[in-house]
Amino acid sequence: MIFEENVSLAPLTTLKVGGPARYFAQPTSVDELKATLAEAHDRGLAIFILGGGSNVVVSDSGFDGLVIRPAFVGVQFEVEDGKMRVSAGAGENWDTFVESCVKMELAGVEALSGIPGLVGGTPIQNVGAYGQEVSETIVSVECLNRESGAIEIFSNADCRFAYRQSIFNSTHRDRYVILKVNFELTRNGKPKVAYRDLIERFDGRDPSLADVRAAVLEIRRSKSMVIDASDPNSRSAGSFFKNPIVKQEVYDHIAAGFDNVPKFPAGRDHVKISAAWLIENAGFQKGYRMGGAGISARHPLAIINADGATAAEIIALKDAIQQAVSERFSIDLTPEPTFVGF
Ligand SMILES: Cc1cc2nc3c(=O)[nH]c(=O)nc-3n(C[C@H](O)[C@H](O)[C@H](O)COP(=O)(O)OP(=O)(O)OC[C@H]3O[C@@H](n4cnc5c(N)ncnc54)[C@H](O)[C@@H]3O)c2cc1C
Repeated sequence: MIFEENVSLAPLTTLKVGGPARYFAQPTSVDELKATLAEAHDRGLAIFILGGGSNVVVSDSGFDGLVIRPAFVGVQFEVEDGKMRVSAGAGENWDTFVESCVKMELAGVEALSGIPGLVGGTPIQNVGAYGQEVSETIVSVECLNRESGAIEIFSNADCRFAYRQSIFNSTHRDRYVILKVNFELTRNGKPKVAYRDLIERFDGRDPSLADVRAAVLEIRRSKSMVIDASDPNSRSAGSFFKNPIVKQEVYDHIAAGFDNVPKFPAGRDHVKISAAWLIENAGFQKGYRMGGAGISARHPLAIINADGATAAEIIALKDAIQQAVSERFSIDLTPEPTFVGF
């Protein structure tokens, strides 16, 4: 098996920073993937699985091993008990998949319109936006065990989905390659209008799936949260930090000193605080610049490659934000992206 060598990773990511992969492979079938993993194992190469590169930060020195970018494509639709079962290959573009589902009047993923990356990346952090999470419609995730080479199928419950979390980015991190994701969508179902921006926009009206998709895309565009090559504010990894979940008393302590600290319910005795609010109130405003890195002028949670940033500059800004929030509010912000080659 021949691997490509010295492949630049920055163009394969949305943040556009970082050095090369020493080796690179794009298997298009499970057999090719197995052969790729076996060869990497024989040669003692470290492995990183790359999807659409929209939730990664690659180090300036790159990755001294093999980067595998699974290119399994194909989407199958099958009606079962009046529900639509949809299987999508990990290498399918996520938003193209959502667009097809909306066109076919299949409800369940419409509010996740415009999220960059591939289908295989969505279960990893249980992507969510505008009141919807991908875990609401995932039935199972088909994976290849990187160690044994066996195919394993994880049910929705097995994946232990939570806010920006699954077994794939926690307990079972780096153990599987996701091959295919199986969804159950509702035929001619109603769109999910649960998020404040959407509720206000539709104001009691009964929008179609296409209306909700269009509204989400418009709102996302206004925040530079869809990839647009002409918009430097979208040269990001999306939201860089998770919204921290804290005990009610921690929230109360912060809220005592400020008006209207945004919060969302997060289970018994806990609330989710807006990371964007914490960042702005720790002194980092939209449009802030630090070397080539910066904060999006349209979204305080997005660290951007403002102007020829290095990965080191992105990390320096991340560290500065984390330190300021910790000093001001005694809260540790957890980054969302995966750090590669650090
Ligand atoms: C502008 C912008 C807006 C965004 N908006 C949102 C949002 O609204 N909500 C949200 O949740 N996220 C958002 N994101 C983050 C990101 O788009 C999602 O997390 C996306 O699902 C990542 O998929 P990817 O294919 O790009 O994965 P990558 O970034 O390539 O990889 C991310 C992680 O998943 C792993 N991985 C990827 N594919 C596989 C596979 N097949 N098998 C095993 N592991 C794999 C990688 O190893 C890595 O650890 C946004 C990002 C950007 C740039």
